[in-house]
Amino acid sequence: MKKIVALLALFVAISFLGNATANVSGMIVCIDAGHGGSDSGAVGACGLLEKDVNLDVAMRLKNRLERSGARVVMTRDGDYYVSLEERCAIANNAGADIFISIHCNSYSSPDANGIETYWYTYGSSNSEILASEIQYSLVSALGLRDRGVKQSGFYVLKNTAMPAALAELAFISNPNECDMLSDPGARDACAEAIFRAVLNYAG
Ligand SMILES: [Zn+2]
Repeated sequence: MKKIVALLALFVAISFLGNATANVSGMIVCIDAGHGGSDSGAVGACGLLEKDVNLDVAMRLKNRLERSGARVVMTRDGDYYVSLEERCAIANNAGADIFISIHCNSYSSPDANGIETYWYTYGSSNSEILASEIQYSLVSALGLRDRGVKQSGFYVLKNTAMPAALAELAFISNPNECDMLSDPGARDACAEAIFRAVLNYAG
């Protein structure tokens, strides 16, 4: 009996992976690592720079998506400055199917904490779905406070022509969350969570 259950579990796992791969195969995903170069983004309570966290999570997400057959377009793949206009042009010129911007939150009070994901107020309903999947997946994976899915007029959300979402992984201004973001394992968990969200969105 145990053997049958194990075989069944294996079958379910394999068919899930099969579906997951098929779902994003050929999909063009634009990943936007916020800030870069002279623009460090927020400076963390533990000294960590937002731009470095964003890029690391973005590259980890890129690897996962490419392994699953997606075509990934990066707005930056190193520590250099890219304007907001250029970021949108890269996504729009590539004809990306979805746009995912990765950031860390920051606030004057070190107590502020948790995860939030944005979509553009006048964006498509698919942007809201994408943002919701990312938010749910990040909260499940990291176990931080769920600040919800929010709407905003962030430039990169407003000026990209495809479903778009902007994730604020955690508060880098919060000492505990900055420590968490310093851990490569936690950044990998962020990438895995966003990857899972893309699979759910595509499925
Ligand atoms: Zn940022």
